[in-house]
This record gives sequence, structure tokens and C-alpha cells, in this order.
Amino acid sequence: MADKLERYRAKRDPGATPEPTGRAPAKRGKSKNTARFVVQEHHASHLHWDLRLEHEGVLASWALPKGIPAHPKENRLAVRTEDHPLEYLDFHGEIPKGSYGGGTMYIWDAGTYETEKFRDNEVMVVLDGERVSGKYVLFQTKGKNWMIYRMDPPAEEGIEPMPDTIAPMFARLGGLPPERDDAAFGYEVKWDGVRAVPTWTPGT
Ligand code: MN
Repeated sequence: MADKLERYRAKRDPGATPEPTGRAPAKRGKSKNTARFVVQEHHASHLHWDLRLEHEGVLASWALPKGIPAHPKENRLAVRTEDHPLEYLDFHGEIPKGSYGGGTMYIWDAGTYETEKFRDNEVMVVLDGERVSGKYVLFQTKGKNWMIYRMDPPAEEGIEPMPDTIAPMFARLGGLPPERDDAAFGYEVKWDGVRAVPTWTPGT
């Protein structure tokens, strides 16, 4: 197990970061068939989400710049990162600035998963967490770059991925109010100004 965490340790100064050293004996999950996973929201130099799957005594890890996709139509980048120690399942806190991955880390979701496939270049799992439940596939595209997408439709109906661009609504002519006997004219106020289109992806 020591070899698997070599890259993890090489990137970190145990005196400077509160993250686990990876030297504690690995504690396995309760059941042999279900392994644990965690998704950490990591406010490092660039906000991303870290997906970690318990596998062969360590946490196989990917950094997801846009988080876990909720809908099968979304294909998202997942960058393979170094294996992390199992104690990292519970880790959250402040990684000091200047340390590797410096910034705040929250646990965004955690749970268990079932494995359908776990190969060096393709991983298919069914995640069972509080926020994420569904069947996901990760596959290597080139080097450390992988993609992640959801295979089954989300449980909530009617969820569609946010389009890349949304045209703001412009002012347009409406009907005049009903005419009154004493009305000499009718008018409609045109509200000018700046239009803003906020978007929010559920769960991020
Ligand atoms: Mn990270």
C-alpha cells in the first residue's frame, strides 16, 4: 500500500498541512461488496470537486472542474489525480496557502458505491450518496484527462442541463390596456436597463 501513496506524500509537507499523512493502517469499509466514496468541494486556486472512490486500499481520485453531472447529456472533464489515503474520506478543512492544493475543502457528499467495472482506463460505478445517486462512467481520453458522465436518468423528472448560452429577453410591444370611454391615449412604459441572466446548477 505504501507505494500507491508515494505521489500523495511527495506533494505534501505533513508539518504544513492538516491533511492525513497516509501512514495510518488502511481501514476497510464494512462490507466487501460496497465501497465508500466522497466528493469534496475544494476551493483551491481553481474551484473544483474531487471525486474519490475507495479501491484496493486507497482512494482513486479525480478532480472535476465542473462537479458531478446531474444529467446524462452532460459530458464533463475529470482529471485523474494521485491516489489518496482512505482517511481522506473524512477530511475537510483548511489547507494552508502555499501548500499543495491550498484552500478550503468541504465534504460535498459521501456514501457508498457498487462497482460494475474498474479498469485502468474505464470505471463504471453506481453511487449511493445523499446528493448524488446514479450510475456513472469515467473513461480516460488522454493521459490524466478523463471524462465523466451519468448513464441513468436522474430520479427527479424534467431536469435538463443548462444550455451554454441564454439570450436575454428584450422589451417587446404588448397589447394596450382595454380602452376607457374617457381615454384620449394609451401608453406602455418601456423599462430599459441592463438584463442579467443568472444560472445555477443544482448541487453545485
Ligand atoms: Mn482538489
